[in-house]
Amino acid sequence: MADNDRSRKVAVIAGAGPAGLTAALELLRRTDMLPIVLEADTQVGGISKTVDYRGNRMDLGGHRFFSKSDWVMKWWQEILPVAGGHADANDALRITYQQQSRELIPECLAPAGADAVMLVRQRLSRIFYRRHYFDYPLKLNASTLKNLGLIDALRIGLSYGQAQLITRSPETTLEDFFINRFGDRLYRTFFKDYTEKVWGVPCEEISAEWGAQRIKGLSVTKAIAHALTSPFRRLSDTAQKQTETSLIERFLYPKFGPGQMWEEVARQVAARGGQIHLRHRVIGIERNGFDVSAVSVRDEVTGAVRKVVCDHFISTLPVKDLVSFLGSTDEKVRRVAERLPYRDFMTAGLLLRKMKQTTHGAKAARANGMPPDNWIYIQEPDVRIGRLQVFNNWSPSMVADPSTIWLGLEYFCGEGDDLWSMDSGRFIDFAASELEKIGMIDRRDVLDGTLVRVPKAYPAYFGEYSHFGTVRAYLEQFSNLYPVGRNGMHRYNNQDHSMLAANSAVTSIINCGRDKSAIWNINAEEEYHEEVGRAA
Ligand SMILES: Cc1cc2nc3c(=O)[nH]c(=O)nc-3n(C[C@H](O)[C@H](O)[C@H](O)COP(=O)(O)OP(=O)(O)OC[C@H]3O[C@@H](n4cnc5c(N)ncnc54)[C@H](O)[C@@H]3O)c2cc1C
Repeated sequence: MADNDRSRKVAVIAGAGPAGLTAALELLRRTDMLPIVLEADTQVGGISKTVDYRGNRMDLGGHRFFSKSDWVMKWWQEILPVAGGHADANDALRITYQQQSRELIPECLAPAGADAVMLVRQRLSRIFYRRHYFDYPLKLNASTLKNLGLIDALRIGLSYGQAQLITRSPETTLEDFFINRFGDRLYRTFFKDYTEKVWGVPCEEISAEWGAQRIKGLSVTKAIAHALTSPFRRLSDTAQKQTETSLIERFLYPKFGPGQMWEEVARQVAARGGQIHLRHRVIGIERNGFDVSAVSVRDEVTGAVRKVVCDHFISTLPVKDLVSFLGSTDEKVRRVAERLPYRDFMTAGLLLRKMKQTTHGAKAARANGMPPDNWIYIQEPDVRIGRLQVFNNWSPSMVADPSTIWLGLEYFCGEGDDLWSMDSGRFIDFAASELEKIGMIDRRDVLDGTLVRVPKAYPAYFGEYSHFGTVRAYLEQFSNLYPVGRNGMHRYNNQDHSMLAANSAVTSIINCGRDKSAIWNINAEEEYHEEVGRAA
């Protein structure tokens, strides 16, 4: 990495995830500043990268491309247009995400068969519980009743009725929140184990407020009313048709996984003269009072450390690291930042010849036993896997040999815990044995496997987070520092929120530091961003 060119103003950007790369491209589009992006990883994309393992591609988490923001939808399509054959020009396309939905008129259509495109994909995800598939979102229909058994279904109904008569008051914990809305039985059957697997904390230790903010109120009354009245509704009923159409979820997805978007953005940043340095880890920050003057960066290959002088610093670093690099002397700021909670994540990629046919429920599996789902929530209490991705169904181009099945077995964990510390080879065996245990595969059909660890995948909202305002107030005192993104703001941001925050930071830089508060207003509304009780 050569010495800083100081003939132009320099914005150093820590992190080449969606936030960092959006900031870099927008700076190049809207200013004459030089963005220098420093990225610790070997590739761009952050959590939204695509990992290529021997031609088979992994998406860490399954990234649907959806935004309520027209700016984001347009921005994405400028980078990767929608593929022809998936939509008609000028025809509105309805896409949905986490039970929100919007019309999208493709900006332009790429030729069918082109590679630099986003596909329109249909979503299917189900819950696997008691070795059966349940609809997701959970529906009170014949198949659910059959899978649960009449007695359990009646118990769930009674316990729901009881919860309506005697509510837990005051409602302080997430457990109270769930039970008041769903009844004790339904909560223990479908929500408790999964929520605890995701967050690693008992529901009694998570605040009810968190539930109100993160979890959409599934109306059990509505579900029951729907189930009871459905025999009287005729299929020709237009309203019914509309409901059914809106239940078909579709989303945009880059042909080669989410990282394809960010690799293309990185290419455009470099083509416009921006710098992106991979395997360069930010390890320190120099400042004059509340003005960042330079960033220390270590080349992870050579070990060399150097200083990059800057006029502005856009940080997507975890807030915990940022505050430590800034060397705050305020005891409370240091303590809160140091103790901010995170949840980490691991994905084992398994390549299979075939899967077992027996358990697919009503939805048809492929001849090799591959389920039709994009992902499956694994609710079984006797295994630790949280979710199963079927990458073939996200995009057929994620798989090198289409006759094989390429799965992602997702585990929620804590950095340094027993899962995290397990040797990769052993972990892959363990993950395969879990799928075998719940009857989905025969381990002899596993052809290959790999493991990806994702530290700080989820900035969590409990514990010391309740004092986050102190840290934010401290960071806001810096004139030329812009914390943006998911871990950058310790906020449960999707890609679009990270991009919008980055774009607001660029606007604020252009306006000499004004409108900084706009950055924190993104994704701040008291709205859920979860699917019922489940992580994105
Ligand atoms: C399981 C899961 C599913 C998800 N599903 C969706 C979805 O369907 N749709 C959606 O839009 N979003 C989804 N998201 C969210 C999405 O992944 C994030 O919003 C997005 O990647 C955040 O971008 P970012 O740039 O803010 O942060 P990140 O992606 O975290 O990027 C930060 C970058 O900073 C780098 N970095 C960290 N420390 C240093 C350092 N010291 N020096 C240099 N570089 C450093 C990291 O290596 C990383 O590349 C999901 C997330 C998860 C975990």
